[in-house]
Amino acid sequence: MKTRILGRMGATVSSISLGTEYLIHKPQEHVDAVVHRAIERGINYFDVFFGQGFVRDIYGKAFAGYRDRVMLSAHLGAIEQDGESGRTRDPELAETYLEDYLRRFATDYVDVLFLHNIDAQDDYDTVMAPGGLADLAQRLRDQGKARAIGYSGHTVSTARQAVESGLIDVLMFPVNLGAHGVPGRRELYQSCAARNVGIVAMKPFAGGRLLQKETQVSLEFWQTGGGGSTLEKRDSITPVQCLHYVLSQVGLSTTVPGCADIDQLDAALAYYDATEEERDFSGLLTSFEQYQPGECVYCNHCLPCPQGINVGQVNRLLDMGRFQMTDELSAMYRGLAANASDCIQCGSCEANCPFGVAVIDRMVEADALFG
Ligand code: SF4
Ligand code: SF4
Repeated sequence: MKTRILGRMGATVSSISLGTEYLIHKPQEHVDAVVHRAIERGINYFDVFFGQGFVRDIYGKAFAGYRDRVMLSAHLGAIEQDGESGRTRDPELAETYLEDYLRRFATDYVDVLFLHNIDAQDDYDTVMAPGGLADLAQRLRDQGKARAIGYSGHTVSTARQAVESGLIDVLMFPVNLGAHGVPGRRELYQSCAARNVGIVAMKPFAGGRLLQKETQVSLEFWQTGGGGSTLEKRDSITPVQCLHYVLSQVGLSTTVPGCADIDQLDAALAYYDATEEERDFSGLLTSFEQYQPGECVYCNHCLPCPQGINVGQVNRLLDMGRFQMTDELSAMYRGLAANASDCIQCGSCEANCPFGVAVIDRMVEADALFG
């Protein structure tokens, strides 16, 4: 299992984790089997957002005996409404549901406490207002009931405000190939990286839409982080390609694919054994016709470089450094086996890049920025 650091929280987290949305109405044995298989395979982060008591009971049993091996999230404001998942902005009710969560999971704390499902500006303002859920989350963290504060939402503008408020340690946001063209997406990720806010990517398959056989893919705003859209895909897309795209993005700590059964879990974890060819998503963005010509998407389709430069990684660090230079970025750059100063301007990467990226110019810029 590959791991990453979950932003300034500093926790070590599996790069592929588990979303539990598709297990909600499954029986105990089924949930046990998927959860235990995930833990066996090294997954240590689980997003458990729901407010329904009967679902919490099932998960509480599934995680019994494993609490010290897993990180659990909870969502402040998630409640039960008519047996389904609902939300509240009433701090008193939200706190009651968090206490209920702790009791049903037989634990004293959650690892990440997300401000739950915020999109509209007026909702954001309500949650962040004095005496609102944000204040409650800080009190719960100060009481030791949460290790870190997160924010979950599907809208770039409000998510970016949350990141830049300084309050949150972790952002949960839709990240997927279908969302590549959403305005402001890159800047949001860069803002997270600059502030060391770890990103937990939800919807890596856009709710399964990217994997469907049909060539026309309709996406809603909650699957993209921007407006809804209908995309034409000319090629079939695999879970491995989707995950590689997600894990290539700036600021990404982990992703939480929803897996309805062990087969789907294994299909996601096949990512780790996939070849570079199987991971390559570079042809898919052009079929969606939503990439910016000249924009590096960090796919490394241009490798190998005769100088051993990881072109995607140098370009990723350059984009982050352009946005905001930090000591961590400099350290990451200096830690590369080969860097931009090693470029001999052979042009091989530019010939191989499907996106028309001016790699040589970018290497010169990166050398000037980091050198
Ligand atoms: S330069 Fe082109 S091929 Fe290389 S990582 Fe960037 S987008 Fe991919
Ligand atoms: S131009 Fe530079 S970065 Fe690109 S393949 Fe040649 S040496 Fe590597």
